[in-house]
Amino acid sequence: MKTKFIFVTGGVLSSLGKGLAAASLGALLKSRGLKVTIQKLDPYINVDPGTMNPFQHGEVFVTDDGAETDLDLGHYERYLGVPMSKFNSTSAGRIYYNVINKERHGDYLGGTVQVIPHITDEIKRAMLSLTEGPKETVPDVIIIEIGGTVGDIEGLPFLEAMRQLRSELGRDNCLNIHLTLVPYLKAAGEYKTKPTQHSVKELLSIGIQPDIILCRCDETIPLEMKRKISLFCNVEEGAVFTSVDVDNVYAVPLKFYEEGFDQKVVVMLRLNAGNPKLEPWRKLIDDFSRPKTSINIAIVGKYVDLKEAYKSMHEALIHAGVHNFATVNLRYVNSEEIKKENVAEQLADCQGILVPGGFGYRGVEGKIEAIRFARENKIPFFGICLGMQCAVIEFARNVAGIKDAHSEEFEPTSANKIIYLMKEWFDFRSNKIEVRDDACNKGGTMRLGAYPCKVIENTKAHEAYKNTEISERHRHRYEFNNKFKQVLEDNGMIFSGLSPDDELMEIVEIADHPWFLACQFHPEFKSNPMNAHPLFREFIAAAIKNK
Ligand code: GLN
Repeated sequence: MKTKFIFVTGGVLSSLGKGLAAASLGALLKSRGLKVTIQKLDPYINVDPGTMNPFQHGEVFVTDDGAETDLDLGHYERYLGVPMSKFNSTSAGRIYYNVINKERHGDYLGGTVQVIPHITDEIKRAMLSLTEGPKETVPDVIIIEIGGTVGDIEGLPFLEAMRQLRSELGRDNCLNIHLTLVPYLKAAGEYKTKPTQHSVKELLSIGIQPDIILCRCDETIPLEMKRKISLFCNVEEGAVFTSVDVDNVYAVPLKFYEEGFDQKVVVMLRLNAGNPKLEPWRKLIDDFSRPKTSINIAIVGKYVDLKEAYKSMHEALIHAGVHNFATVNLRYVNSEEIKKENVAEQLADCQGILVPGGFGYRGVEGKIEAIRFARENKIPFFGICLGMQCAVIEFARNVAGIKDAHSEEFEPTSANKIIYLMKEWFDFRSNKIEVRDDACNKGGTMRLGAYPCKVIENTKAHEAYKNTEISERHRHRYEFNNKFKQVLEDNGMIFSGLSPDDELMEIVEIADHPWFLACQFHPEFKSNPMNAHPLFREFIAAAIKNK
C-alpha cells in the first residue's frame, strides 16, 4: 500500500486542539505536494452527532454527501481546502451499529462477536476505507485523529485498532503522534512534564509507543525540557514539538513549520515530499495583520454561551473579514432576551446582523424582532437556514400583512404556514423523488448535504456568486411554502435562488435595502480562509459600508 497513516492521539485532558493540530499538519503536508486527507474517529456511542445537542457537542458539520459529522471536519476542510465525505468520520456508535447489523444478518456464521477482533476489524475497515477508489484519488497520507483522551474506557477499541494496523502495515507506514499538555506552574517557575510522562505510560500499557510528542503549552518550551520529555517518554530527541497558544488559529501551520514538525514527519515516514509552498499561508497571516477598519456583527441566536455551536459560521465571518481587511468583532446576542422594547438597545452599535440556523421555537420571536429591526433600519442582514425562515415569517407578518404567519415547526396548527414540512421533493443528486415518511424519526429525516441551486441574475446573490449555478449544503426539515410566493413577491420580496425545478426557495432578498439576504442552506460550511464565501464576503462588505 502506498498510503501512509499518521495517528493523532490526545493525552492528559480534552480540548488541547487535536483537530487543529491534525488539520495544520495536513495543510503543511499538502503544501509539499502530497495528497492528504484526515479522518476523525469519535468514541461516543451516538451513531453520528446529528441528534446531539449543540450545547454538548458544538456544531454539526455537514459534508457534500450529507453526512452529519464532528466539527473537526470543518477544520480539516478549512485547512486542507478539500471536501470531506462520510468516510472521513465515524463513531463507536456507527461501528457497533454495523457490527450488530452484520451479526443479525448472520455474517459471523455463529461465532461469538467480540470487541477484539470484530469491533477492531470494523474500525480498521473504516480507517482503510479512505484508501479505496481510483488510484489517482487515493491519498498519500491519511491523518487519523482519535477523539477523546488516552485512558478513556470507550476509546480503547480505537487505540487497539490503531496498534493492530501499525503492526500489519509496518512501522515505515504508520506514525503515532501524541498531543499532551505541558503546563507552566507559576509558583514553581517551570514547565511540568509529569502529566506527559503519565499519559505516555498509559499509551505504553496498551502497546502503543508514540513516535512524536506534541506538547500543548503557552510558549515554546526550552530545549532541556524537550530533552527530558524525549528521555522519559522514549522518543527521539528531535521528535518533541510544541503546539503553542496562538491568537489566530490560522497561524498554527506556520508555527509548526518554523519548529520543523512537518519536516520530521516527512523524514520519519519517508514521504516523497517536495519543499512546502507556504506563500498562501504567509499572505493570509500578513493580511490578518493589516486591518483597515473594524466592525461589530451581532449574531442573534440561542446558543450564545457556546461559541462552538456556530463554529463554521464564526470562521466564515473571520474569513470574510480578512478578505475585506476588517477586524470582525462578533457580538453574540441571546435571542430569548430580545423584545420589541429593547431591540434597538440590544443591537446598538452593530454594523451587521446575522441570524444563524437553529431548531425549535425557543428564541424565535426575538430573532424575528431583530430581523424587523434590521429591515426597517436598513442594517445589513444575513439569515441562514432558520434565519431565512424567520426572515420570511417577519416579512409575511409585518410587510405582507399575514399577521399569523408561522412555521409548521413552531405552530403546527397555524392557518398560515409560510414555512412547512415538505413531504417529498425531487433530489437532483439521486434523480428521484425523496419521500419523507416519518417526520418523528429524528435521525435521517432532513434535507442533508449539497444541492444545486440556480441564482437569478441582477440580484445581490448573483452579485456575490457571479454565477448562475451553485451548489450549497443543507441541513433542515422545513421549507418555504410556495403558496405564499406570489403575495410576498407582490410586497417586494425577491426569490433569488431556487432549486433547478423552481420548487424549493433557496435564497430570498428584499429590494430597497442595502443588503438583506437570507438562504435556506448553510454557506458557512464552504468558507475557506484563503477563499472567503461570496455571501459572507458581501455581507461584511455591506457592513463596512454601513459604518
Ligand atoms: N429548524 C429548521 C428546519 O428544520 C431550520 C434548521 C436549521 O437552521 N439548520 O427546517
